[in-house]
Amino acid sequence: MKILVLNSGSSSLKCCLYEIGETLPSAVPKALWEWAVDWTHRAGLAEITLKTAHGAALKSETTAQTQTEVMGYMLEQLCQGETQAIAQLSEIDVVGHRVVHGGTQYRESERVTAEVKQAIADLACFAPLHNPINLEGIETIEQILGDVPQVAVFDTAFHRQIPLAATVYPGPYAWYEQGIQRYGFHGISHQYCAERAAQLLERPLDDLRLIVCHLGNGCSVSAIRHGHSVDTTMGFTPLEGLMMGTRSGSVDPGILIYLLRQAGYSPDQLEDILNRKSGLKGISGLSADMRQITEAAAAGNSRAQLAFDLFIHRLRASIGAVLLSLDRLDALIFTAGIGENSALVRAAACDALDVWGIKLDSQLNDASPVDQDIAHAESRSRVLVIHTQEDWAIAQDCWRILSPGSIGAVER
Ligand code: AMP
Repeated sequence: MKILVLNSGSSSLKCCLYEIGETLPSAVPKALWEWAVDWTHRAGLAEITLKTAHGAALKSETTAQTQTEVMGYMLEQLCQGETQAIAQLSEIDVVGHRVVHGGTQYRESERVTAEVKQAIADLACFAPLHNPINLEGIETIEQILGDVPQVAVFDTAFHRQIPLAATVYPGPYAWYEQGIQRYGFHGISHQYCAERAAQLLERPLDDLRLIVCHLGNGCSVSAIRHGHSVDTTMGFTPLEGLMMGTRSGSVDPGILIYLLRQAGYSPDQLEDILNRKSGLKGISGLSADMRQITEAAAAGNSRAQLAFDLFIHRLRASIGAVLLSLDRLDALIFTAGIGENSALVRAAACDALDVWGIKLDSQLNDASPVDQDIAHAESRSRVLVIHTQEDWAIAQDCWRILSPGSIGAVER
């Protein structure tokens, strides 16, 4: 089965093609074809990076602006030229989409129907930057590939079994009735890491108590018991919780009331500040990238140091908070750009866990681990670094839903 996976964000689009035979492989296979477009660097130009499983690589640019135009260009490259991966588009058996918001109704991945599309559109009020783009991706595929089966894999679905006490905000109960509740995000990554941890630890997922720290441009921590998320730091929107690259994470809501009332800010300005001018970038005044923050801090830049210290303080506080939703901890997991690559962040986070008997092996931590246990032999819990593979997780759900004998929806 040839599976095209689309992962679209507000200023980027990633796409890859996997092939899965009659059984799911236990190791993650190489994508046949990977394609990424980034609109953030140069105005009016989209930068494209392409690689194939055979090692062909290409960097190019296009002036195509809308997601629909860019996807048309991408599908042309998939079956033409030196980086061609298939002879014709009709070879694609299914297209899987990462959909950010699945509301309360979607606890699992779903085959796209008119009803699912309507739900994604209705939920755009909760995820205005993402759900409309996800829906546009689905509709563009319909226009170009006709009635090829499509699957929506929701970033919120994994958190749908979080108990009410960790779901409802302590405002008026009417908020909850209106859908103002904690949804949680990054669910595809949290779930993939939990499943991969069970493989690495050679234990059934159902028996494990895990904490996953997804630390990338967006950051969230989740507690996982019996293979389900039982608490997570992101809430109604992906703004809640940890400090992030350009997002503030949790701040006192009184600040927003103060800024609206006393400083004349508009809701749009607040949204811009909280999403794009805060976090590592807002505090350091320098960069949203942890590599530049740690370099500048090491060179004596005090605001970069403060940004790093704040990031770690909030990360430790969140690990501590979600830990109390578990009755023990089998493994603490680090994933995504910062979690996978910054030994400094992992060491600083784990320093505070010494009181709970969680200890890193500093040599293993410093040796660029991938899908590896970096805990000290005497540690009470394992500490794992896992390379998150959201696109592969989406491809697997497509396979599970579309393979013969499936019933059309899947809870991974
Ligand atoms: P992601 O959203 O998972 O792609 O993560 C992107 C972020 O990971 C970047 O903005 C950096 O802050 C961070 N990152 C990537 N590589 C490194 C590294 N070697 N050291 C520290 N942070 C890194």
